[in-house]
This record gives sequence, structure tokens and C-alpha cells, in this order.
Amino acid sequence: MILAFDFGGTKNTCAAFERDAAGAYQLAALERRASPPDADGAYDYATMCELARGLLRGRAPDAIGVSFGGPVRASAGWVVLSHHVPGWENTPLRDQLASLFETRVVVDNDANVAALGEARFGAGQGCASLFYVTVSTGVGGGWILNGEIYRGANELAGEIGHIVIAPDGPPCVCGRRGCVEQLACGPAIARMARERLLREPARGEILRAWVGENTAALTAQQVNDAAQQGDALAQQVMADAARALGFALGNVIVLMNPQRVVLGGGVTKAGADYFENVRAAARANVMPELHNAVDIQPAALGDDAPLWGALALVS
Ligand SMILES: [Zn+2]
Repeated sequence: MILAFDFGGTKNTCAAFERDAAGAYQLAALERRASPPDADGAYDYATMCELARGLLRGRAPDAIGVSFGGPVRASAGWVVLSHHVPGWENTPLRDQLASLFETRVVVDNDANVAALGEARFGAGQGCASLFYVTVSTGVGGGWILNGEIYRGANELAGEIGHIVIAPDGPPCVCGRRGCVEQLACGPAIARMARERLLREPARGEILRAWVGENTAALTAQQVNDAAQQGDALAQQVMADAARALGFALGNVIVLMNPQRVVLGGGVTKAGADYFENVRAAARANVMPELHNAVDIQPAALGDDAPLWGALALVS
């Protein structure tokens, strides 16, 4: 039996994988807990250990794979920090779990782990090279080269969210301006819609009917729903976000020529128009020789990608 941990920030999940008669791992059991807003690292760690003990029922795991939502020193099994949950700074998560459960543990960040999950079990099966991007409250990315995670010299490879595509664009959490994340993630979509509603008082009738004057509460989901229902302002915002991501992916494809790009995360569930806009922008931003090499597909494992990736880390 292999345990898979997904420390997701707002929710934590523990899963048990067991081999079937043919020797293939199957998801045997899964426990998910929402993390309360005031939770800290110690609380989430204790919750996860409790979930694991419930799944183990006295048995010993063969190994534990861990996906962590935040920067990780994978080679040291060390969590650098969480952007969502305080108290994770410099936590030796691998060694803590290894001594508690007396087994082998591998820890990596969620984008790398989800990339590995999609490569091994999802939309990237059969691809020797794959770039995975998750677009939700932020934008993260992970490389799979020759079937393995490529982390880079400082274990920071794949950070597409912080590629600058508009040097005079909106400020980013990383201290620079115009990063992909600030033009493509969920909160950025909500912000761009808010700015347009203020700037263009005669447009956005569906969105306005929903949120009224309270544009501060606007969500990316509402923007996409309004776009689906024909709100032209919302459609423009969704198209702008898709184009920003696609433009950056074009740069990535020119630089690395991956066999496939897989997109996961809540924003990428926006639908067919979103994907077509991403693909069109990527194609427009690569040399002609690469037009047919632009292969951008939706993720297949959804929210479970980090769990399957955690399995792949140790199996
Ligand atoms: Zn940035």
C-alpha cells in the first residue's frame, strides 16, 4: 500500500493506493478535509497524520508520496513555505513523516507532482516531454523530461506564472510587473472584469445584474458564467486571460518544444472557447515550423492529479 498526501492549502487530502490482481495501483480509499481559515502548518500536519492513520488501520505503508502547495526543496524533502498557511517555514516534512510512519517518503511541490501524475496516468501518457500548467488562484508549472520531473539548478524550473509578458502591466506578488499570473489566474480575471465594469459603464449587463455595485465580491467563476451566457464584456475578459496564457505558452514552446502541454486547475474548466483562445495565441506566437507542434490539452485527472503524482513519486 502506498499513501499519497496532498497539502492543498485550503483543503488537505490523503489517499491509499493498493495493487489490483494485475499489479496496477488503484485508488482504494480517500479522505479529504477542508482546512479552517485560521489553520497553521502544525494543524494541517496533525490533520493529515490522523487521516493517514485512519486509512492505514494498523498496517504499515510501503512508501509515502507528498504533494505540497508551495515552494519545496525536493532534494532535501524540505518545505520552504506556504503562501496560504502560516507556520510551514523551513519544515523538514520528509524526515518528519519518514520517522513517524517508518517508511520512505518523497516530497515535491504540487505543480511538479501534478505534472508527473498527468504524465504517468493522465493526459500526458506516452509523452517523453510534457509541460503541465495549473491555473487557479495562481499559475504554476512543472516539467517532465524523459519521464522524470525536471527541477532546474535551484529547483525553480517551470514557474510560468512569473514570466513577464507585459513589463508595464499590473504589479505581481514577486515584486515585478506584468507576470502571466497577474493576467491569467482566477483573481486576475475577477480584477480585470472589475476594472472593465468601472471603465465601460454601458457594458457588462449580465455581470452587473449579478453583482450590482459590489464589484469587489466578483469571482472568476461569475465572469466565466456571464461569458457563457453571452455577456460581451465578460467574454472579452476571459479571452484576454486565455490570450495571456497562450502567449506565454508560445514562448515556452519556442524555447523547449515539448511534445504536449497539459492545462489543469479551476480556470481551465472554463470550456472550449477558452482552450481555443489559448491555442490560437500560442500558435500565433511560435515560428511557422512549430505551428503543428502546438499540442495543448486539458488535464485528465482533475483535482486528483496531485494524488496520482504523489503515487508516481514513490512507485
Ligand atoms: Zn510575478
